[in-house]
Amino acid sequence: METSEYLFDLDDQEIFSAKNSDLKAKVLRYHLMPRLNRLLKVAMQQAQAIFEVDLMEHSTISQSPGFRTDRRKGEITMDYDWCKIGLTGVRKPIWSKIHNRKTGKSPVVSYISWDLELIDQGLVATVSLPANGPFTKESYELLLQPLVRNAGSIATIMNRSHVRFYSNAVDVKATASLAERLQRVSTTREPEVVFATTMVPFPIPESKGMNIAHQLGELFLIYDTWIRAAQGLDDRVDHMLSKLDSFYDWCDKNNVATEETDEEGNDADVDLSSFPVEKTSVLPAKRYQVFQRDDWKCVSCGKDPLTHGITLHIDHITPRSKGGLNQVDNYQTLCDTCNLGKGNRDSTNIRELHGSGK
Ligand SMILES: [Zn+2]
Repeated sequence: METSEYLFDLDDQEIFSAKNSDLKAKVLRYHLMPRLNRLLKVAMQQAQAIFEVDLMEHSTISQSPGFRTDRRKGEITMDYDWCKIGLTGVRKPIWSKIHNRKTGKSPVVSYISWDLELIDQGLVATVSLPANGPFTKESYELLLQPLVRNAGSIATIMNRSHVRFYSNAVDVKATASLAERLQRVSTTREPEVVFATTMVPFPIPESKGMNIAHQLGELFLIYDTWIRAAQGLDDRVDHMLSKLDSFYDWCDKNNVATEETDEEGNDADVDLSSFPVEKTSVLPAKRYQVFQRDDWKCVSCGKDPLTHGITLHIDHITPRSKGGLNQVDNYQTLCDTCNLGKGNRDSTNIRELHGSGK
């Protein structure tokens, strides 16, 4: 049995630079996105627990890329170098207070997002308004004013969680206070506005992934503020801040760390020397070739990650300890359940049993 120690390992990082775009897209779709999706659920539970509001009231879950396939070949041909999943505003023209700068109408699709992004550098959680903004200048002011008014409290949260603020707006000194920067950005034409956690580099252990998901949960406050401002609803920043304060109090009392990186933002508790060398013996291309050959489904029960929420594992047909070779022929794709059921002593080639051994 091969079970990675990591939520996203070095194979996963390497796939971002792969040349085979169909294989790459399938790795993202069947292998990485389902894991991101799992983290998003954790983030949503965290936000729900802290703020006790209906997260989905004005939002929808959206993921990118959408993986359109070539109609003739059935292959995914676009070259992706990122994947992300999160919440955005609902796709309804109810954005009464913000306006598209070109048409003057309320935008049908919301650009406000709260999400987890996996790129070749690592994993990050962000809340953002896009660059080359679709909104009018007045819309940006409207979105940012509640944050300007509460900049002191928000800066405290950001320090606690090592969250950073980015913008492409010129004339904003990085040393200025958050209030000054936000104020400046809110009057800039088409600014990019991003609140982002410290990026966790590959390989990413489960604990770091969970940590990012929890941080995203805390950042829901900013997303919620924008969503409400966009719709002309009363702002509830005070309420959200007091909920977050109670949560931090609870963490302090129970000695729960809400942040695991040290001052330099380096991993403090990952010992790379403990990375099991044996387990890297399945080369990335080989591991993904096996999934590709088996059509991204468990060869035993036929379940796939998108339909059934399972995780795919690579399984040695003949264990290495019994002389099994490190060759594609000696591997098969199994889901969590079938992988556990099979155990290390069993060397059943399930594809052959099913008469599909190609
Ligand atoms: Zn299975």
